[in-house]
Amino acid sequence: MPIPHDHAREITRRLSRGQDIEKLNARLAPTSAEDRPIPPPVPASRQWDADAVRQRRAFLAAMGHELASLSGAEPDPDPESLRGNIENYIGMTRIPTGLIGPLRVNGLHASGDFYVPLATSEGALVASYDRGARIITQAGGASCLVTAEKVQRAPGFAFTRLVEAVRFAAWIAGEFERLRDVAARHTRHGRLLDLRVHIQANNVYVIFDYHTGDAGGQNMVTFCTAAVCEEILRVTPVTPQYWFLEANMSGDKKATSQSFRETRGRNVTAEVVLPRELVEARLHTTPERIADYWRMSFVGGVESGSIGVSGHVANAIAAVFLACGQDVACVSEASVGVTRMETTADGSLYAAVTLPNLIIGSVGGGTRLPTARECLAILDCVGDDRAARLAEITAAAALGGELSIVGALCAGDFARAHQLLGRVAPPSDAADSSMPPAG
Ligand code: NAP
Repeated sequence: MPIPHDHAREITRRLSRGQDIEKLNARLAPTSAEDRPIPPPVPASRQWDADAVRQRRAFLAAMGHELASLSGAEPDPDPESLRGNIENYIGMTRIPTGLIGPLRVNGLHASGDFYVPLATSEGALVASYDRGARIITQAGGASCLVTAEKVQRAPGFAFTRLVEAVRFAAWIAGEFERLRDVAARHTRHGRLLDLRVHIQANNVYVIFDYHTGDAGGQNMVTFCTAAVCEEILRVTPVTPQYWFLEANMSGDKKATSQSFRETRGRNVTAEVVLPRELVEARLHTTPERIADYWRMSFVGGVESGSIGVSGHVANAIAAVFLACGQDVACVSEASVGVTRMETTADGSLYAAVTLPNLIIGSVGGGTRLPTARECLAILDCVGDDRAARLAEITAAAALGGELSIVGALCAGDFARAHQLLGRVAPPSDAADSSMPPAG
């Protein structure tokens, strides 16, 4: 996302949380296994029997995470407690949830080794992300940074003629402070950051940008904008013929061409450099072959009209969203991104994922559901001051998945891994160590 020059200093200060660039550098730098020993992998990996499940639960319990809801030990929530999350309730849809890791994240907000819960019904997916996470960890971790944070609501106002629309647009542009104060009366954590106007003949779209604290913020921006619109209608010198609270310019639940010029949620990047030996040993290919693949895939993505180019970041985002109580429909905009894979001057592999619209929260929405709380707790992402941390972990997990799938495609393992892990009733040797790494 291009940053206006007059905002750059403020954004840099806020992003670095007051740390100078040296400290930020140190925080984002890879941490070798000598400096910080790598924690154990998820126990009984790729084993499906009851004892394997017990081992994994015991592993998390030893870290203080009792999975009362996820394990089914706790009864379903009292339907009354689901008010605000569901209407016409009939029961809980259960989605299998697996664990990957350790995933080393060297982020500004998330720093450490994480075990990440992923909810999915797609076989091979967890195995693939697990492999990617562990490769990133062996390389010293993914450097992660949230570079922008905002959420939009975009009401539309219709006038009889263009000249009225222009008068309204000119007027409202001067009313920012008044409208910011109105919004502030309707939220404790949200903040109106900016308003922008778009004139379309005799219509005016007003795009309100908010900071939504640690909430995904879709409700918050709706309620604040409703109050702001009431104030607009009360004081406007030009009365619209009609208006709507959302006129479809906010990008809510859609992949749009604005995805790279704007941020919706959090703009987050995760990057890693994999030494050649690691690529050869764990991905069974070379940095050059991966770079060749990526060039070809990039052109394929462009020519097929993809908005952004990535392998399967939607898998990571959907699985984290399902596990952690996020609005799953927002995978539409959140999975728009760019993955890059290039060779470096010393023959290593540089890989990065940028997600400009990762709309994610550690409070509000579905984060209060019991299973979501347990999954968020595994990541220490419950409550205040945790949303950017969750964004960085999600981006790092997505990067792991990109590395793993590209590795599988380059090594010729993609179809075989899916055949072994993604088919009902896999062959009895499915848990064999000769099994290819999943994509
Ligand atoms: P929300 O649960 O409606 O609101 C978040 C709540 O958390 C607010 O009451 C907020 O209080 C409070 N809060 C406490 N600590 C906070 C902190 N540190 N940071 C931010 N807020 C904090 O959730 P939401 O994120 O605004 O909306 C998400 C939900 O909206 C999802 O369920 C999603 O599916 C749904 N949704 C709604 C629309 C819509 O147009 N309404 C569209 C798409 C999705 P304050 O506001 O007082 O700070």
